[in-house]
Amino acid sequence: MFEVKDLGKKFVTSSETKWVLRHVGFSLPSKGLFAIKGTSGSGKSTLLNLLSGSLKPDEGEILLDGRKLHRFSEKELEDYRCFSCGFIYQHFNLFEELSVFENVAMPLSLQGKSKKEITNNVDKYLSLFQIEKLKGKKASFLSGGEKQRVAIARAVISNPKIIFADEPTGALDFHNEKIIMDSLKEISKSCLVILVSHNQRLIDTYADHVFLLENGQINCGNVPYIIEGMNEAKPPKRKSSKNWLKALLFQNYKREGVKNVLSIVSSFIGFSALLLSFGFLIGSQNTIKSEKRRNLQYLSASVSIQESKKIEGSPLSLTQQGRPDYYDAYNLVKDIGGVTIQTDYSYFFPIYGPYSLNGLLQKEVSFYPVFDITLRERKDIFKIEGRLPKSNDLDSVIVNKQFADQFEESPIGKTIFFDRDFEVSYNQVRDYVSLPYRFYISAVVEEFSFLNTPKVYYSYSGLDQLMKSTILEKISSAKGKEVSVYDLCEICQGNSPYSSYAYWAFAHNEDSGDKLKNLSLELENSKNKYSVSSAAYAVETSYQSLTSAFLTSILPFLAIEIAGVAFIISFLAYSSFLSNKKQAAILFAMGARNGDTKALYQMPSLINSLIAAILSIALIPIFNKYGSLLISHLVGIERMITIPLGSVYGIPFFVFLVIPLFAAIIALIGAGLPLLKARKSSLVEELKDE
Ligand code: ADP
Ligand code: MG
Repeated sequence: MFEVKDLGKKFVTSSETKWVLRHVGFSLPSKGLFAIKGTSGSGKSTLLNLLSGSLKPDEGEILLDGRKLHRFSEKELEDYRCFSCGFIYQHFNLFEELSVFENVAMPLSLQGKSKKEITNNVDKYLSLFQIEKLKGKKASFLSGGEKQRVAIARAVISNPKIIFADEPTGALDFHNEKIIMDSLKEISKSCLVILVSHNQRLIDTYADHVFLLENGQINCGNVPYIIEGMNEAKPPKRKSSKNWLKALLFQNYKREGVKNVLSIVSSFIGFSALLLSFGFLIGSQNTIKSEKRRNLQYLSASVSIQESKKIEGSPLSLTQQGRPDYYDAYNLVKDIGGVTIQTDYSYFFPIYGPYSLNGLLQKEVSFYPVFDITLRERKDIFKIEGRLPKSNDLDSVIVNKQFADQFEESPIGKTIFFDRDFEVSYNQVRDYVSLPYRFYISAVVEEFSFLNTPKVYYSYSGLDQLMKSTILEKISSAKGKEVSVYDLCEICQGNSPYSSYAYWAFAHNEDSGDKLKNLSLELENSKNKYSVSSAAYAVETSYQSLTSAFLTSILPFLAIEIAGVAFIISFLAYSSFLSNKKQAAILFAMGARNGDTKALYQMPSLINSLIAAILSIALIPIFNKYGSLLISHLVGIERMITIPLGSVYGIPFFVFLVIPLFAAIIALIGAGLPLLKARKSSLVEELKDE
C-alpha cells in the first residue's frame, strides 16, 4: 500500500527549525494491523498526517500504490481521504452537535451517496458496533466508550483501504479498549490499519508488526519491507449531494444565535442607510421635477440683451443690459411655440416695493405678473385657498403662502394698496402719470417652498389694459394723437428706463415653459448676448446644486458605513469560524471539498446579509412615508424620500435585485477574506490529542 522513502518533515517556528522526521523509510502492505510506537512528541501523529496527505513532506516521498502522494492535486488528496481513509482519534473528534446517525453517515454523505444507501449502511454499522440505540442521540451526550464506537463505525462505514488510528484507546477503560481493538483487528483482515500507540501490551496483543519511532527515525526491527504491486485505480467520482452541509449549517447557525442577530442588525442599518440615501437621490430629483412647476413664475421669463462696450484706452469694457429689439426677442422664442413676447411695465409697476395692507404700511414685497392668472390647466398642481381671479382682472391678486405666513390671519379679502406717480418725457415733452394700485387678495397659493419669498401675483393682461387706457395728455396733444403708457413703453429705446430693460416671455403651457427654460440654459451656456431668465429657474438650479452637493457629501459617509458593515460581517464570520475550527479540521481530514467547507462558514453571513436586505426592503414603505414626513416637517419639501419599487435606470424591480445582490457580494467578500487566512496546517493542529 505505502512505500515511504527518505521521508523528512520539519516544523519552522519563530525560534527554531526542527526536523521531526528525517530519513524515514518503510513500506506497508494493504492488509494487517501495524503499530507505530514512540514517546510523546516523537512525530507519530505527524507521520499519520503525512500518510493521509494532510501534511506535505519536506523531503523524500510517499508512494501510495506506486503513485507519488505529494504530486496529488488538492482535489485528488481530498478524494483520497474521502474514499480511501478512515480516521480514529484518541479524543474521538465527532461532530458533537450532530446525532450518532449523522456522524456515522458523514463519510457516505461526503461521498454524495443517496439517502437510501446511507440509511441502510448506517443501520448496518450501528448494529455491528452495538450502538443502534444511540442512533438519534447527540454525540455530545455519549460516554467515551460510546463515542469511540461511533467514531470507529464512522471510520469504517465507507470501506476505506486504510484506517488511521491515533491512540484510539488512550481515553478508554479496559472494557472499551478491548471492544475497539478487537474490532480493529477484525477490520485489519481486509484493510490496512495503522495504529499509533505507546501501550506495549496492546501492541504485543494486536499488532502484526511494530515500527519504533525514535529520534525522528523509524526502527524497523527485523520485519522485511513488503512491496505491493502498482495500483493506479482512481477513486470513484463524487456526487454533489450536500446533505451533510445542510445539517452542519443548521447546527452552526443555531449555535451562533447572538452573533447572527448582531450581524443582521448591523447589516440592516447599513442597507437601510443605503436605501434611504438612494431614496433621497430619487426623491429629490422627482421633487425638483414636480415642485418646480409649483411656482407661479415658472411659465414666465424675462428676455434681455447684454452688450459689451469697449472703453477707449482701457482694457476694461462696460456691459450694459437692455431690452432687445422686439423682432429679435420674438425670433428667439418663435421655434418654441406657445410663447408670447410682451412689453415689460416694471417701470410703471415696480417689481419690488412697500405697500399697505388694509391701510397698514408693510415692508417691501415682490410683485410678479402672471399671464393667465386663472391657472386653467395648472390648478391641480397648487394647493389654493380662496378663489382665483379672472384672467384680465387687475382688481384681484393672488399671494403666495410665504406672503400669507407673515400675518396671523388669512390675508384673503384684504386690500393691498400702493400708489405711484411718475414724471415721464417724450421728445422733450414732460407729462405726469399717477397710478393708484388697489387690489383685493382673492387667493393664497402654495408654491414650492425652497428659497421662496413673499410674493403678490397680478394679471398681466389686466395691467396691459390699464397701461393701454392710461393716456398721457400732454404728450398726446404734442403728438397730435392719443399716446398711452403702453405706447410710451413700446416706442422707447432698449436702454430707456421705460423699457425696464426687458421683454416678458410668457409660456402658455407647461411644455412651452420647459422649452423656454431649456432655451434659457442654452443661451447661458453658449454665452449668447441674449438671455432668458427667471427667478424660478434660479431656484431650480440652486436646489439642484444643493441636493447634489448634499448627496456627494454623504457619499464618503456611506462608503464608511458599508465598509463598517463588511468589517462587522468579516469579524463575526471569522469569530464563528474560530469557534468551529475543530469542525473544519475534521471535515478537512475526512476529505470534504475545500470549497464546501468554505461555503459552510460563508453561508451564515450570506443568510444574515440577505435577511437584513429583505428586512430593509420590507421597510421601504415606512422609510418613504416617515422619512419624507420628517424632512417635510423640517424643511417643508414633500416626498423627499422616494425609494422606487419599480424600474430605475431601465432595470425592472431595481431595489429588489440590487440590494440583495449587493448584500450577497458584501457578505461573500466580508466572510471570505478571513477564511483565506485559515491555513491547513493550523487545521491539522486542531485535531491534536493532548
Ligand atoms: P506525537 O504524535 O508523536 O506525540 P507529533 O507528531 O504530534 O508527536 O509532534 C512531533 C513534534 O513536532 C512535537 O515536538 C511537536 O511539538 C512538533 N510539531 C507538531 N506539529 C507542529 C506544528 N504545526 N508546528 C510546530 N511544531 C509542530
Ligand atoms: Mg500524537
